[in-house]
Amino acid sequence: MKRSLAALGAALVAAFAVTVAPQAASAAAPSWPVLNTGQSGANVATAQFLLRQAGQTLVADGVYGAGTKAAVTSFQTAKGLSADGVVGAATWGALAVTLEPGASNSAVQALQTSLNKYGYNLAVDGSFGTGTVNAVNDFKAKNFLGGGSTVGATTWQFLVGGGAGGAYRLPVDRSILPGSEYDDPHHDYPAIDLPVGTGTTAYAIAAGSVIYVGGGCGLGIGVNGDDGGYYQYCHLSQRNVASGARVNAGTVIGLTGATGNVTGPHLHIEIRVNGGNRCPQPMLTAIYNGSAVPSPASLPSTGCFYSSRSMVSALADDVT
Ligand SMILES: [Zn+2]
Repeated sequence: MKRSLAALGAALVAAFAVTVAPQAASAAAPSWPVLNTGQSGANVATAQFLLRQAGQTLVADGVYGAGTKAAVTSFQTAKGLSADGVVGAATWGALAVTLEPGASNSAVQALQTSLNKYGYNLAVDGSFGTGTVNAVNDFKAKNFLGGGSTVGATTWQFLVGGGAGGAYRLPVDRSILPGSEYDDPHHDYPAIDLPVGTGTTAYAIAAGSVIYVGGGCGLGIGVNGDDGGYYQYCHLSQRNVASGARVNAGTVIGLTGATGNVTGPHLHIEIRVNGGNRCPQPMLTAIYNGSAVPSPASLPSTGCFYSSRSMVSALADDVT
């Protein structure tokens, strides 16, 4: 979107006012990630192992398919939760059983899977032995969590909601922009321009593999997402990940800027499925609101831009 410098300055002042508000003594727990059909990765596998622990029958393959949705729905029904087949905060809360060292079960496999997002390289053997105890102690110390080696709801929330592996994450810190910025239409094709100044930390929205993009995109990052979507981030002033690198949702990919074809600093984001641009707005708004995140393939390709320019010409020359 186009904004005057004065408006952008006002937004930055507002964001700064938020960031200097009094801080709690310890970090707030991250949000539980919302898991839904079409997603994949460590958080999905973690939920699957916890569902198995709860007596559900499903394969813990890290892919949220029909079998996982059915197991989630069955679990929700058994727990008296809204049976929507989506793993949100209430479902995570019911799944997150307390674990003590010495335990040996599917929930420990969930614990090991989620710890491995942070590089602990544990065998996912379901045995809460010395190696897993050491990893838990280290993870809890880094996050200022008490309670010894016990893994309770708060520890689970840090593990699955942590910046290095939630299923989806906003591309800039939540305090930077109001939610209303995430549904603004793009000027000429399905994409979105987030009005952020140069030097704002940019994060991967979803997990995948990095490629470098240039041309009108400037210092651009493309991520071939594990969820079947292709995510492109343009006009960065700095790239923080190498071409070919793996990123998770929340990995810092660079700093925003004004490189390439731009009229001023902003973060331009595209999501494509099979080469066709989709509207990022419903996904970003859902992430902002903490509601169920739509899969890339379910995103619309119209209704989020002003003109009806052909996709081919838009992709060829214009990434502002
Ligand atoms: Zn743009």
